[in-house]
Amino acid sequence: MSLSIPFANTYGTLPPQLFTRMKPTSVANPSLIAFNHDLATELGIENAEDNAELTRIFAGNEVPHGADPLAQLYAAHQFGQWNPQLGDGRALMLGDVKTTKGRFDIQLKGSGPTPYSRNGDGRSWLGPVLREYVISEAMHALGIPTTRALAAISTGEQVFRETALPGGVFTRVAASHIRVGTFQVLAARRDMEGLKALFEHAVERHYPEAKDPLEFLQSVIQAQAKLVAKWMSVGFIHGVMNTDNCTVSGETIDYGPCAFMDEFHPMQVFSSIDRHGRYAYGNQPDIIVWNMAQLATCLVPLMPDTDQSVKDFTEAVHAMPKMLHLNWRKAFTAKLGISSPTAEDDVLIQDLLRIMTDEKADFTNTFRALSDNIANPPLDQSDAFASWMQRWQTRIEREDNPYALMRTTNPYIIPRNHQIEAMIQSAVDGDFAPFHRLNTLLSKPFETSAEALPYTHPPMDDERVEATFCGT
Ligand code: AMP
Ligand code: MG
Repeated sequence: MSLSIPFANTYGTLPPQLFTRMKPTSVANPSLIAFNHDLATELGIENAEDNAELTRIFAGNEVPHGADPLAQLYAAHQFGQWNPQLGDGRALMLGDVKTTKGRFDIQLKGSGPTPYSRNGDGRSWLGPVLREYVISEAMHALGIPTTRALAAISTGEQVFRETALPGGVFTRVAASHIRVGTFQVLAARRDMEGLKALFEHAVERHYPEAKDPLEFLQSVIQAQAKLVAKWMSVGFIHGVMNTDNCTVSGETIDYGPCAFMDEFHPMQVFSSIDRHGRYAYGNQPDIIVWNMAQLATCLVPLMPDTDQSVKDFTEAVHAMPKMLHLNWRKAFTAKLGISSPTAEDDVLIQDLLRIMTDEKADFTNTFRALSDNIANPPLDQSDAFASWMQRWQTRIEREDNPYALMRTTNPYIIPRNHQIEAMIQSAVDGDFAPFHRLNTLLSKPFETSAEALPYTHPPMDDERVEATFCGT
């Protein structure tokens, strides 16, 4: 029996200026690196047993039954600069499926050029494919809203970046691929028909209770405030929070030059293209507010009374920093075993983060050591830390079961950048075992285990990854 994916293809019913229908470009000699059977089952995919068929389909060599492949149009502010036209330059959505948890897009990434490719080749090399597979699945296991990984393929072809590299195709699953930039492209063109249709589609799909554009905006703001606070709580740096990499669903999307921090520093940057630190760890809450202001601007034309809606939308955006702060407090107090936070706890959190900065402490290991109630090797037993410990101990006396809470909020392992880079290097050399091992271990990030222990080690000086590069 052949593979069955219950496609519904609702995006294809939107006005045609929003996308270009086309087929993926075949590759020479594909092979299957990984297929996420658990996720496939959640999506209602059946008969996913024939690896040769899975390979053909997720390499883009065969269009599965019922699919309606299309490349989506969008625009973006990239590093604050307006770019009026982008779009899926190396991706094609096969279609969307309806599940009990809502609708999900299935998208091939690296499947050949599209009308939106500009000067790009429409391809991806293996590095970004494996990086996105591991990190997006790790984020999911950490309980952070994210796009998922369905498949990874090696194409048997080379792609040319600075050197020749092995090519890959990644299959991404997302609650939708509607970005702030999707609204922006239509608003900038004053395409009211498209804007209205996209708005109605996005409401129906993500926030059916939202009665108007203001409520929709407020829902997106809430979802993004929760998301960014969760990123902060695991030391995650997205790296390229351009408005095309910012969903209205509130899922993390586009794992290009992202990274989890080892040594804590509030202004840590990893992306080699982020020269001015716009997307540094500590700037993420400000940037998401900026992105929401761009979304607000796009939604104003949908309202009958412009003056009033500008007022209302401005107020909605101005409410976001407080929301972010409350989510941040909730996430960080939970990391300290505090289940009912108060404003006074902010100082406790901030003081710890300051000590961690001064002592260059490992973010993940510090919180985990506190959770396991062990002497705290990531931090020097300095006076500053000792007096902080005392205050914290006094504070958690009021809590019922702080350590149990902490062991569900402070992961034992995270995908560390140097391990990702080593895994990619092995894969390029033909060994995919480290890729599979990372996936297995990261699927249970809160569990202490002997197998995971080597993955808890921060990089040695010669293993440090100073910069990660754009997903191209
Ligand atoms: P990203 O940095 O992955 O968010 O990509 C930014 C834009 O560049 C998107 O519109 C991509 O589709 C496009 N792009 C990135 N890499 C390529 C490539 N190799 N070929 C064509 N378009 C690309
Ligand atoms: Mg992108």
